[in-house]
Amino acid sequence: NLKKSLGQNFLIDNNILDKIVETANLTENDTVIEIGPGIGSLTQKMAKVANKVIAVELDNRLIPVLNEIFEGYNNVEIVHGDALEVDFSQLVEGSFKIVANLPYYITTPIIMRLLEEGFNVEEIVVMVQKEVGERMVASPGGKDYGILSIGVQYHTKAEISFIVPPSVFIPQPKVESAVINLKVDKEAAVDLIDEDFFFKIVKSAFHQRRKTIRNSLTKAPYINLSRDQVDQALEEVGIDSRRRAEKLSIEQFAKLSNVLFGLYRSKE
Ligand code: SAM
Repeated sequence: NLKKSLGQNFLIDNNILDKIVETANLTENDTVIEIGPGIGSLTQKMAKVANKVIAVELDNRLIPVLNEIFEGYNNVEIVHGDALEVDFSQLVEGSFKIVANLPYYITTPIIMRLLEEGFNVEEIVVMVQKEVGERMVASPGGKDYGILSIGVQYHTKAEISFIVPPSVFIPQPKVESAVINLKVDKEAAVDLIDEDFFFKIVKSAFHQRRKTIRNSLTKAPYINLSRDQVDQALEEVGIDSRRRAEKLSIEQFAKLSNVLFGLYRSKE
């Protein structure tokens, strides 16, 4: 009796489970938080190699099942809660890794929450929809590159570790999956004067991604910039105003937003 609404696709392939654990490089020094243990297949594998596994599961029907499976373990803690709301820093002292076969309906909010809310997370190894994984790791230039790529790569070194076919799950999802590895960078990838402003610029730039960078920034819904300000900033950082957002690197967005921030503030 699976709950589709909770993204319940259980992994039934031993090799894939092993590969996820290998990718996370777990040692006896690691504390792992698992999001959505389901019936505990991945949890059991990780408990063998990690110091501690804390598994956060939302479905109340699975809690007694999990408690029973892990009764004899002294390094597994089952937490009944919502991964979008639990305070991870209350669950662990010190740093931790996240390893999970994520519920796909909330992949992006979970990952962005982990990265943006200042939790002490070192590394995130998670199964996601392949297409979402591709957007997270995309470089400038292609259709996959956008707000999600920049949001993830601003905080981490991101790569796809391996691709997973639908056949290893019950029930089978409609799409392929990917295990991604995000190594959190404590130092930001780029120097920003104002982080909020940077992300407003990025969002505006991709709001209508077929437009030139000049057009999308002057008609940006998130921020009120004049054509002069935009032209001046683009010239100052040496970006052709006819380029599209998808061609700009994170470094270029950083420079652009730093200059625009100055112009924007001085007119206020
Ligand atoms: N780890 C198991 C496996 O690999 O077989 C199950 C993975 S399944 C894709 C996702 C799991 O996340 C389900 O057990 C589901 O109940 C749980 N879940 C869904 N939404 C959640 C949430 N907001 N917080 C915590 N767990 C959630």
